[in-house]
Amino acid sequence: MQSIDQFFPLLKQPFKAVITSHQKPDGDAMGSSLALYHFLIQLGHEVTVISPTNWAKFLEWMPGTDKVIDFEHNRAKSTQLINDADYIFCLDFNILHRTKHLEPVIKESKALKILIDHHQQPDTPSFHFGISDVQMSSTCEMIYDFIVHSGHSVLLNLDIAACLYTGLMTDTGSFRFPSTTASVHKIVAHLKELGLQHSIIHENIYDQSTEGRLKFMGNAFLNRMQVLYEYNTALLAIPKTDIYKFDLKTGDTEGLVNYLLSIEGIKFAAIVIDREEERKWSFRSKGKFDVNIFARTHFEGGGHANAAGGRSSKTVDETVTDFKEILETYKSQLTQLNQK
Ligand code: 5GP
Ligand code: MN
Repeated sequence: MQSIDQFFPLLKQPFKAVITSHQKPDGDAMGSSLALYHFLIQLGHEVTVISPTNWAKFLEWMPGTDKVIDFEHNRAKSTQLINDADYIFCLDFNILHRTKHLEPVIKESKALKILIDHHQQPDTPSFHFGISDVQMSSTCEMIYDFIVHSGHSVLLNLDIAACLYTGLMTDTGSFRFPSTTASVHKIVAHLKELGLQHSIIHENIYDQSTEGRLKFMGNAFLNRMQVLYEYNTALLAIPKTDIYKFDLKTGDTEGLVNYLLSIEGIKFAAIVIDREEERKWSFRSKGKFDVNIFARTHFEGGGHANAAGGRSSKTVDETVTDFKEILETYKSQLTQLNQK
């Protein structure tokens, strides 16, 4: 993979590009994709954002989402665009299978692939150009740098600012995780100078719940939560019946796992959700316990040191049993005193 600055001169010639991110895109995936879109179209390029799957309703307000193509609902058009593209920008994922059913289409395309991502252990040989930096708070931070370092700061506009702020805010847990560096705050200051109305974005993202979602959360904490104090771990296992009962939609379970870490002493939080095609795990930790390694080793997943995801083909009960057995082998790590 060649470094991203080697790509900068290529921004001068008109091109056709597709921008994509991981399945079930979150605020950072959608924010970085749309920010890059709003930047590239100003340079006169032909650009389409294709999401591998649908996305949460709370991202719909973002400028440009109306033009994003959901691959699962428009396979023929997406495939055509990917085949015709000169470049495919791959944002906020480290390995192509994170694009689910889009993976073979991307692999077969002759387009040059450009990676911009902050997840651990990227599959760099699959990309022609790119930057992978696990120190970055978010892919949105990297898109800001991409625009500035390629000499186009003047093209930062309010649409780009709103999209970038969304990813910066969501991936840093509203600017509280250790990844929130001085650079992150400097970027936000710059976006504010451009006229960004940050409080509206917080409302758009976090105040779109349905009554059903709050009832689901209440039920989850009351009936689905296990606090395993002997491992400093908390666990939520959500059966499919809850998803139907509370009429949950894509994105409704996002962020739930973080609440578990608010219990005093809890260093490791896990949630497993019974999705149609698989049991999807989310892992979060505080301090040194590395959930990227945990997810990668035991649940076919990965991510960051303090936030990762994985999957299982077993039933919820079976995968929870597996989880607890595995947990035993991490007991000493999880209970070490003075763990920071
Ligand atoms: P979440 O728990 O919010 O779905 O994901 C937490 C972090 O881990 C995100 O950065 C996400 O992109 C990443 N992640 C989630 N699931 C997987 C997975 O199955 N494989 C990999 N490599 N990363 C994942
Ligand atoms: Mn991200």
